[in-house]
Amino acid sequence: MGIEEKLPSGVLLTSVEKFAGWARKSSVFPATFGLACCAIEMMTTGAGRYDLARFGMEVFRASPRQADLMIVAGRVSQKMAPVLRQVYDQMANPKWVLSMGVCASSGGMFNNYAIVQGVDHIVPVDIYLPGCPPRPEMLIDAILELHKKIKVEPLGPDRAKVRRAVEEAAMAA
Ligand code: SF4
Repeated sequence: MGIEEKLPSGVLLTSVEKFAGWARKSSVFPATFGLACCAIEMMTTGAGRYDLARFGMEVFRASPRQADLMIVAGRVSQKMAPVLRQVYDQMANPKWVLSMGVCASSGGMFNNYAIVQGVDHIVPVDIYLPGCPPRPEMLIDAILELHKKIKVEPLGPDRAKVRRAVEEAAMAA
């Protein structure tokens, strides 16, 4: 009897998925994308005191093609919205979005015509972080929560299907 017949069904794929999830969550590359005051806290998170490199996030990538995490740090103006979407579209798959601060998540105190009332109108958001501004510890906590999510995400078309549905819903809104 071959080894394939002895193993329970799906055991190999499950192990590959677990490994891929672990590898992905351990090497997330954020895009350099600061929009307002929240970006100062994001930059601090990457500096020596908080040392984001501990979690495999050594470098913020200047090119979206080398990044798989967009941290939307600050309010999104209507003028910036198409640029943000373009950066997102250029990022490598699979990719994730972290909405940092109340402005990015809901427009915050800027309830006016110039500011997008939540970045989820433009791109699908994986995790929302409250605060004005959230401190670096809070950002790290949100990133670790995102890591948990990334670790158990299935490989293959399932995730793409879910994401596409979310994107279409965001576009239609
Ligand atoms: Fe600035 Fe506060 Fe808005 Fe962040 S949430 S962009 S700190 S006003």
